[in-house]
Amino acid sequence: MCDENVAVGARVRVSFGRKKVVGIVLSHKEKSDFDKVTWLKSREGALGYKLKSVDEVLDDAPLLSKDILDFLFWSANYYHHPIGEVLASAIPKNMRLGKPAEIKKARAFDNQISSADFDTTEEQNNAITTILASKDNFSGYLLHGVTGSGKTEVYLRITENLLQQGKQILVLVPEIGLTPQMIARFEKRIDGKVVAIHSQLNETQKTDAYLMAKSGEASVVLGTRSAIFAPMPNLGLVIVDEEHDGSFKQQSSFRYSARDLSFMRAKLANAPLILGTATPSLETLKNVMDKKLTRLILSTRPGETVMPEVNLIDMRSQSTEALSLPLIDKMKQHLNNNQQVMLFINRRGYAPVFYCTECDWKAECNHCDAQMVYHRHINRLKCHHCGAEQIPDSSCPSCKQSTLKVLGYGTERLEENLESYFPDTPIIRIDRDTTRRKKAFAQHLEQINSGEPCIIVGTQMLAKGHDFSQLAFVGILDVDVGLLSLDFRATENLAQLLIQVSGRAGRSEHKGEVAIQTRYPNHPIFEYVRQAHYTQYASKLLKERQQTQLPPFSHQAMICANAKNKTQAETFLNEVAQLLRSIDLPTVEIWGPVSGVIEKKADYYYFNLYLQSVDRQALHQMLNTMFGHIDSIKASGSVRWFLDVDPIE
Ligand SMILES: [Zn+2]
Ligand SMILES: [Zn+2]
Repeated sequence: MCDENVAVGARVRVSFGRKKVVGIVLSHKEKSDFDKVTWLKSREGALGYKLKSVDEVLDDAPLLSKDILDFLFWSANYYHHPIGEVLASAIPKNMRLGKPAEIKKARAFDNQISSADFDTTEEQNNAITTILASKDNFSGYLLHGVTGSGKTEVYLRITENLLQQGKQILVLVPEIGLTPQMIARFEKRIDGKVVAIHSQLNETQKTDAYLMAKSGEASVVLGTRSAIFAPMPNLGLVIVDEEHDGSFKQQSSFRYSARDLSFMRAKLANAPLILGTATPSLETLKNVMDKKLTRLILSTRPGETVMPEVNLIDMRSQSTEALSLPLIDKMKQHLNNNQQVMLFINRRGYAPVFYCTECDWKAECNHCDAQMVYHRHINRLKCHHCGAEQIPDSSCPSCKQSTLKVLGYGTERLEENLESYFPDTPIIRIDRDTTRRKKAFAQHLEQINSGEPCIIVGTQMLAKGHDFSQLAFVGILDVDVGLLSLDFRATENLAQLLIQVSGRAGRSEHKGEVAIQTRYPNHPIFEYVRQAHYTQYASKLLKERQQTQLPPFSHQAMICANAKNKTQAETFLNEVAQLLRSIDLPTVEIWGPVSGVIEKKADYYYFNLYLQSVDRQALHQMLNTMFGHIDSIKASGSVRWFLDVDPIE
């Protein structure tokens, strides 16, 4: 309640219990919705005096415009998430704290712009003209371009055109590591301000970027998933680069997919949407089938560059070493040619298993159902699930003998191994441990971009869109885990990964080469990867998903409960399942509860309950009904639970 006419979307300070908190005005009311609630009555006195006064109005003009509020309400509704938490994840911390909405450090923007001095290919041209033809309406495009085919050039030319009409462009990229590279490419070409939004910025930078987007001062807003919520009054184009990437999905608190939300964001702005990738997700290909997206293909690399040659190394005929002899030979050959080589292994640390050769004891986390990973550099055993650390014992805790050993390879051990084979070649390791420091990733990239021969060792951080012009050879080390996984998305993700990683090789005049080490050389996935036939493999997978009625041919939601007491978590979900089954919506299937992939994490036991339906509306109707009645279930003890709509594991 307030005397002034406060705008919807403005921040206000209000009393909340004994505290003062910052809130956002979402609507005006004369009366409280909770008039009839008796506890309010007894606390606050007479009826009709339930609304409290606003203490202070913080914004003259609303911080959140109607457009962005509509989008946030839509998102909250779709994910069945409280609007308060959605708003909190959509605005910078300084704004949540009630600090003034003023740009603090106006950065100097003095871009040295150089316009493109080369022609686009016919396919690029076609993509540009098609998208620009629909510039004032929502229309969705899949820009399906093989790695190195020049998708970014398409983004840039469309951006150049739209900026002349006073539009703003929103570009989403999967990784923080990719933003500087993409920012640099836009800044070189765009006559306007390019601002970044990602988690490694400090709070002032985040606030400034947010406010520049909101004022229209920023021409291009480029960032990771949370940038989908950036306020942009003149939004004229939304680009999601590497749309297949899992990092567009937030896996905690407000579990949204920025890729999925990009459709509604573009729709509300009447702007085109481009999803770009060499390896479209099956969801995106299904959207093409359903004519929700138009596919534009870039099938060739500009200039003389050809696709790399992909070969398999059958590890059944090799010793147990991580590096097979044919792989070492290939590396030597390319390094002798003054080229760079890259090895890809999706596991950081020194070794994933620390065990006793006498009694088979293994170092396991005390808080999780997981083995501890040995990190040699710091001589610690670490749990990659809860972060627990310990100094390894010198003798076996079980049989007391000095027979402890490591098994398997992570990036750290691979680096050590490589040093013995290639003592004179610089080795650059890129994983979460070596890039934790701010700017460390950028420094590594700089060293690689100098073009000197070197060996790059890294995890999947390397698979994402980096262009290394002197990289001639890529070795892929542990793909078999992906072949054996139970997750129904595992082969899709593996095919994407293999094609993306392979695509790093041979970006300039040299034909690249790729070697994949596997114990399952006859798995069908490899034939498709060798031929770079991603689309054909994806069609095969789509058929399988259709037969089994799995996403994208059905829609899923997951209710996850966890508690320190295993029975409590399971019982809670059993009761939720009972509630769901009592709702008469036969098109929704309910399975579970089943224990999580890792049942115990950080001392909590995890259980999941799955809902699936070919009818999305029915699924959401069931969730709405569930939320209406969930309070009747008395979660015993301290069961925590959350809902994940369209989960990916
Ligand atoms: Zn032992
Ligand atoms: Zn743990």
